[in-house]
Amino acid sequence: MGIFEVTETDLAGRIGRIRTNHGTVATPAYVPVVHPVKQAIPTKTLKGMGFEMVITNAYITMKRHGKDAEKCGIHDIIGFDGAVMTDSGGYQVLEYGGLDVEPAAMAAYERSIGSDIAIPLDKPTGFGLPRRTAQGYVRRTLADAKATIDSADIDGQIWAGPIQGGEHLDLVARSARGLAKMGFPMMALGSPVEFMEQYEYASLARMIIAARRAIPAGLPLHLFGSGHPLTIPFSVALGCDTFDSASYALYAKHGRYIDQDGTRRLEGISHLSCPCRVCSSHTPSELRTSPERYELLSLHNLYAIKSSVDGVRQAISEGRLWEHVIRGLRAHPRLYEVISVIAENPEYVESGTPQFKQRAALFFTHDDLLRPEVRSYHRMVRSFYTKRTKLCLTAAPPANPAYLDHGIVSLQRRVGKDVQVCTIDPYLGIIPLELGDIYPAAHNMAARNTEPGIAAPTLETLEHLIANNSFAEIIYDRKDAAAAALVKHIPRTIKRNQIPKIKNKKSTRQEQL
Ligand SMILES: [Zn+2]
Repeated sequence: MGIFEVTETDLAGRIGRIRTNHGTVATPAYVPVVHPVKQAIPTKTLKGMGFEMVITNAYITMKRHGKDAEKCGIHDIIGFDGAVMTDSGGYQVLEYGGLDVEPAAMAAYERSIGSDIAIPLDKPTGFGLPRRTAQGYVRRTLADAKATIDSADIDGQIWAGPIQGGEHLDLVARSARGLAKMGFPMMALGSPVEFMEQYEYASLARMIIAARRAIPAGLPLHLFGSGHPLTIPFSVALGCDTFDSASYALYAKHGRYIDQDGTRRLEGISHLSCPCRVCSSHTPSELRTSPERYELLSLHNLYAIKSSVDGVRQAISEGRLWEHVIRGLRAHPRLYEVISVIAENPEYVESGTPQFKQRAALFFTHDDLLRPEVRSYHRMVRSFYTKRTKLCLTAAPPANPAYLDHGIVSLQRRVGKDVQVCTIDPYLGIIPLELGDIYPAAHNMAARNTEPGIAAPTLETLEHLIANNSFAEIIYDRKDAAAAALVKHIPRTIKRNQIPKIKNKKSTRQEQL
């Protein structure tokens, strides 16, 4: 049995479980960084808040606790009986240059202190390194990782392969493939901290996709240094399962308050909208002047991050991860650029999206044309075939599915059996009546003031529909704006005709369209 089990998916995000020597960790999971010497929030509090795994630094542990940690184990040193992940010190390499310890010795130490998920000593590429240098770092990390995994006496310990390469996506892919081939059961993607400091969210998204595409779907992927509500939703949606960061404490040190759409200076806050136990029992000025300000702010920051992770988990369960992620991306224009990365990789986010969902898909803007459900619906219509020789296009009626609408029923009667009736939808494009109850045609709700009109995917679908079938005639109502706009794109070789009117004087307005 593998170490990782996936139970639910949406987009490329998943809900799952990682089995470790110290219990199961539900994912997606935020993994708080715990300092092995000076920890602001007691690890007991972290456990009590529901964090099942923490990460600590094996290099600092080695320097400060040495043999003691080998004797009693890392769990006793930090006082945490859940899963403990150890970073080998790669971040210190990034910050201060080299370390005075060899990868093999570091690996042996991580084994002897009994960490549940260990990371071999790596050479982080960060962001902004010239390609040649980054390439050297990737090679070096791969060689060290190989030596580590080859000598590993596994015994339930999970080794996570450190993927490097930074913004050089081919290097990220090569690094990830190399580690997967060595047999690492988990992967850890390096150094997005610098990406985030420079607001390079789109580059971070590209890096995650490059890594994820290069490794088997069954492997959990950890993202280093990226536990912030701004990045959590989209990183999970792109396939990250766990992520750590020390931001809750680092930000608190500088009086910074994390919330769902950014980080604020405590000085500038006049209202605390968060319902956590810190915010609900303090006013902003009490928080600012409290002698325990650092601890309180750290605690609030943890609650804010936890709330973000719980929100993402719930969104995956509901099949509403798309809506959740897009809402989050609007917190900052640079974050919103991640939409372009999704547009570049549409089939990637489709991979984990269930074909049918319990809940209606919500459509708001043009962005929703990129939704997996919308794309797969278009694909289905593009291969639709009928023996009918005429096509009738009409605006979508109020009733859903369309074939239950009185106006549509009457229209069908008037045009006759040899006519394929299709309704026009701003998002789903062209809906043959027969496909009117396939998800999400009858299970969506769209804002009526921001519809995209006749969008490019709809025109493409129309093109395919005409190419696949032998329609000699197209029937529509000239007063129907959607139909008239669409018909403009129909080849001249196809005859155009109006929908026949009903002669019966008693007919209702609705029947006349
Ligand atoms: Zn709070």
